[in-house]
Amino acid sequence: MSTGTRQGPAAGGVTVRVPAKVNVQLAVGAARADGFHDLANVFLAVSLFDEVTATPAGSLTVSCEGPDAAGVPLDTTNLAARAAQLLAARHGISPDVHLHIAKDIPVAGGMAGGSADGAAALLACDALWGLGSSRAELLDICAELGSDVPFSLVGGAALGTGRGERLTVLPVGGVFHWVFAVADGGLSTPAVYAEFDRLTPAAPVPAASPALLEALRTGDADALAAALSNDLQPAALSLRPELARTLETGRSAGALAGLVSGSGPTTAFLVRDAAGAESVAKALSASGTCRTARVASSPAEGATVVARG
Ligand code: ATP
Repeated sequence: MSTGTRQGPAAGGVTVRVPAKVNVQLAVGAARADGFHDLANVFLAVSLFDEVTATPAGSLTVSCEGPDAAGVPLDTTNLAARAAQLLAARHGISPDVHLHIAKDIPVAGGMAGGSADGAAALLACDALWGLGSSRAELLDICAELGSDVPFSLVGGAALGTGRGERLTVLPVGGVFHWVFAVADGGLSTPAVYAEFDRLTPAAPVPAASPALLEALRTGDADALAAALSNDLQPAALSLRPELARTLETGRSAGALAGLVSGSGPTTAFLVRDAAGAESVAKALSASGTCRTARVASSPAEGATVVARG
């Protein structure tokens, strides 16, 4: 994170590492008049990372490398580019920067990869341009970029309310181990919410689960497994029924619990330890019910400058 002090522009590039997230609870209320949904969204950052490098350039350009790079837009719809534009506009400067994304977070997988790149680009440009923005200023721009972006900056664990963007940091008392089964193709988040609205005509007011918050605080994997929940899961399963087989495969391979990650189609499995993660990942990979299985742990730290040229 930026320290909030002016350090002068970096001469070469600035690289920021940023984590993916899993929603250990996603409670969704009814659609509001503005089309958004009120949420009680418990985010946990996990150790799958993108890296965004900002270097001085004649104009705003974006490049991307990684297995899913073909699914990432390289124009100004990329959240990293939008972050650079917003930050530059606030300071009355031109967003002349090249943003290179080394992408390891699955694209359109419900793991907030685009949001992560937005937060990372914001931090990288702030350092590159020597702006010294405060954390509050950066969080404000993050909230303008999207509901999941503030959490990508903060990392760790947090409860998001409102559209998910009003964050309360949560204590986490231990390391949790995960396996993520990455599906073929993505799921559109707006399409999943539309399906949720169709399936849930009278959604109750969303609230965080006290049992879940306590499980995070004490680092108790069994208690967390019992409390995991995602109100979008029925909608994601309705749009992608084959995900039920993936969930079943991970559970029978010994996962403590499995659920759809955010709006899917990635499925997340909580496992007891690193050895359990390896065996569940192996079973999922061998089953043919997912494209690939990734092992990760949590919590992970939020967007962080890892290199300055
Ligand atoms: P969320 O969990 O926040 O709903 P997601 O993980 O399902 O998001 P993303 O990987 O963020 O999905 O991608 C959703 C869409 O956003 C992509 O299909 C792509 O068109 C667009 N997008 C914009 N910027 C990026 C980016 N930097 N990386 C990936 N996708 C991006």
